[in-house]
Amino acid sequence: MEMKSEIMKTKAKVAFIGMTSCKGCFFEFLLLNRRITAVFDNVQITNFWMLKEFNDKRGKYDVVFMDGAVSTDRELEELKSVRERTKFLIAYGTCACWGGVPALRNSAVNYRSLVYPQEPKFTSRATVDPIDRHVKVDYYMRGCPVNEDEAFEVIVNLLTGKKPSEKEYCVCVECKKRETKCLFKEGKVCMGPVTYAGCNAPCPESRTPCDGCRGPLPDRNIGAEVQLLKDHGITEDDLKLIFSKYNNVAEKFEKVKDEVAR
Ligand code: SF4
Ligand code: SF4
Ligand code: SF4
Repeated sequence: MEMKSEIMKTKAKVAFIGMTSCKGCFFEFLLLNRRITAVFDNVQITNFWMLKEFNDKRGKYDVVFMDGAVSTDRELEELKSVRERTKFLIAYGTCACWGGVPALRNSAVNYRSLVYPQEPKFTSRATVDPIDRHVKVDYYMRGCPVNEDEAFEVIVNLLTGKKPSEKEYCVCVECKKRETKCLFKEGKVCMGPVTYAGCNAPCPESRTPCDGCRGPLPDRNIGAEVQLLKDHGITEDDLKLIFSKYNNVAEKFEKVKDEVAR
């Protein structure tokens, strides 16, 4: 990887920059606790407003963890500017990768009057977008929130000059590895068959359905998943909610929502 020699020579400049989100993914990074000190020894964190009073907003970065979706013109301008000054841009968390929960407002009617008692002064873009609608992304770190072990693995890989690998298989694989009993066998439903792995399937392990927070795998048979959910009593309205919750603008799920809406 091109970055290797430069990172090994000098401390890599790493920035955590946020757009529209709940910032839960930033907290997940902080949960690295003791492991985080090893990271700080090897990189220069130039931006992390939860930790630092002074942040370098105009500098060049080796790695940027870009959290959140784009919902305002100011954010879009900042995103484009950061991209120009960054070697390796990570879409950090489902809001950045797929629009996440903030993108639910794309389907809401009169959301501003529902959310704010008085019309707010700031202006919003017509839609909330994942960041790759506007700039090139070098790596996707999915999850709502991201998985702390994955965050550590990605950082270590980058520091040692390796491009982190993406987990191109579904949550069911991790479920099977853990020998978790399938929720469908208990009459429950689950989005695991169509969802990117990498979280180690914590929800099914705790007997909670996977909600698809890591987003849709490209090669999955969405029609089969829809039929499976219907066979387990899921109504058309609930289907739309299930496929929208974290992935309202994920193109892979658009067909399902369009069909249900008809
Ligand atoms: S992906 Fe989830 S946890 Fe992370 S910032 Fe967005 S809403 Fe919060
Ligand atoms: S519980 Fe969900 S993730 Fe696990 S095997 Fe069943 S469908 Fe797949
Ligand atoms: S099991 Fe599903 S909902 Fe739970 S963390 Fe993994 S991808 Fe997200």
